[in-house]
Amino acid sequence: MTLTPAMPLPLIHHPGYTIALPPRHPFPMAKFRVLRNILAVEETGISAEWITPQPANETSLARIHTPAYLRAFLGGSLSEAAQRRSGFRWSEALVARTLLEVGGTLETVEAALATGLACNTAGGTHHAHADAASGYCLINDLAVAAAHALAHGWADRILILDLDVHQGDGTARLFRHDQRVFTFSMHGAANFPARKQHSDLDIALPRGTDDAAYLYQLMASLPPLLVQFAPDLVLYDAGVDVHADDRLGHLELTDNGLFARDHYVLTTCRDAQIPVAAVIGGGYDRDLEALAQRHAQLHRAASQLI
Ligand SMILES: [Zn+2]
Repeated sequence: MTLTPAMPLPLIHHPGYTIALPPRHPFPMAKFRVLRNILAVEETGISAEWITPQPANETSLARIHTPAYLRAFLGGSLSEAAQRRSGFRWSEALVARTLLEVGGTLETVEAALATGLACNTAGGTHHAHADAASGYCLINDLAVAAAHALAHGWADRILILDLDVHQGDGTARLFRHDQRVFTFSMHGAANFPARKQHSDLDIALPRGTDDAAYLYQLMASLPPLLVQFAPDLVLYDAGVDVHADDRLGHLELTDNGLFARDHYVLTTCRDAQIPVAAVIGGGYDRDLEALAQRHAQLHRAASQLI
């Protein structure tokens, strides 16, 4: 499937991605709303088709997560320790927004398979494991979406391209024995999680990696992978915590570097005629406008392909 030039870019968003958190909570929950507002008034003229997702259902979650974990998370019986590891206090609102976010990534995959490219305005919860939440990730949307596409026969070989600054440890572990899913994580060596998992391909970057060094690694790795693994779908985690001003990342990418990265990924996959479903991944800054502007580079790069 390739993009048809006249087609608008499918952008997936739900107002319910953002819920209220206690003041000074370290997770920038309002960024999804700010990002949606930025894209709504974008003067570069993104020709978008906005899609409102449904919450993910239990059948799709159960392909990835254990019954015991789903019972605890959905039913509100996560232990104190499990809640601490997740980074959130459990609430019904938290469950509802998580299911919407995962549903958004499922919708993004469907739209990408139909048009060649689609972008969520959330997603990328790659630290969640089959039986545990971790690092602001409660349900692994990338894994649920990959399993969903495989189960429906929409794809046979899926590349999960994870360029968030943190290793996609949950995703790597979930698919370590599944030949149909290739996990590629390029991340900061010094970043969370302290204990890394084995992706099918890991590139651990030193502190201070700049645009040029980062793009060099990416350009050396992605094209041969697309040829050798030959995916028929790419799930792209475009985390912006690789940015120099990110609170949690240790890399030094600029705004232009982010755009160049996303544009490179999307054009390389398009030229190989592989559909891409993109999620925004991590990004941490008290300045929500600056942060959402970084995330919007993905949607701007995508809109240039239309
Ligand atoms: Zn991250």
